[in-house]
Amino acid sequence: MEPLLQVNDLHVSFQTVGGEVKAVRGVTFHLNKGETLAIVGESGSGKSVTALSTVRLIPSPPGKIKKGEIVFQGKDLVKLTEREMFKVRGSEIGMIFQDPMTSLNPTMPVGKQIIEGIRWHQKIGVTEAKNKAIEMLKLVGIPNPEKRVSQYPYEFSGGMRQRVMIALALASNPKILIADEPTTALDVTIQAQIMSLMKDLQEKTETAIILITHDLGVVAETAERVAVMYGGVIVETGPVNEIFHHSRHPYTWGLLASMPRLDLPKAQQIEPIPGSPPDLFDPPAGCPFADRCPHAMNVCLEEMPPVTQVSSNHQVACWLEDPEAPSVERGKINQG
Ligand code: SF4
Ligand code: MG
Repeated sequence: MEPLLQVNDLHVSFQTVGGEVKAVRGVTFHLNKGETLAIVGESGSGKSVTALSTVRLIPSPPGKIKKGEIVFQGKDLVKLTEREMFKVRGSEIGMIFQDPMTSLNPTMPVGKQIIEGIRWHQKIGVTEAKNKAIEMLKLVGIPNPEKRVSQYPYEFSGGMRQRVMIALALASNPKILIADEPTTALDVTIQAQIMSLMKDLQEKTETAIILITHDLGVVAETAERVAVMYGGVIVETGPVNEIFHHSRHPYTWGLLASMPRLDLPKAQQIEPIPGSPPDLFDPPAGCPFADRCPHAMNVCLEEMPPVTQVSSNHQVACWLEDPEAPSVERGKINQG
């Protein structure tokens, strides 16, 4: 089956006063119809830039897609004009961000915003669109939608605003929904409600979701596949079960080990991975994780590890997995 979206060798940079930040450095992934792909990583790993570039939503300048293809329904989005891209975004791709206040128009009743969204892509009258907007609000679990439809964003709680945002994003019936840390600003109970709402709606609408998050708990509950990003590259990608139980990349091991565990006392919690992510003004020639990796070898410092297929849909970019890696003593570099 042909994927809905295929991204090949994407490179994205930002021009700053300090020089060029190479935020995304050769990312390849695909998204199947109706699935949820989680992109996980620390802040600065390039996960948001990757997702936003996919819909050409990085501010340009200073951002720029330097290289790569983004094939969606047979078209390379990198080659579209801004006008053509605007159409694709409006009708085929929906977006939800961390803070709905920044994406909802504070001066317009929420219903009107949804109505505009619906009418933008369907030729229907205002009354019909309004009924649809009410239906959408009901669908996302907003009580009393007939009254709520004419209220302003500030009249909604954080969780309710995020529901409105989801209604708005789904109003145009998109094939892809990009959700960038959609629940980070919400408290834990509301987070769980919003995630399960997204899952339910996905089953009804068959929308594929790219979920950007640093929260592995959210990933475990909602995604089918995971791409782990570090230092502007995808270091590992695979089905959620394989990543959680048979991960093959040292960075993923560290990420999983640093997940907060409710069953352990604080003293037994594992520390986050020591060290800091690479400088993306001057990214390392070799593996981006080499500075922090307890298994690093000489080759890791010199050359970017190639991608190895470890099972039918599980890939890892690590010299430990490469059958042709030069044989050197392992784990010497960062152990004093
Ligand atoms: Fe560690 Fe080397 Fe693998 Fe990078 S390539 S994760 S440094 S072992
Ligand atoms: Mg981000």
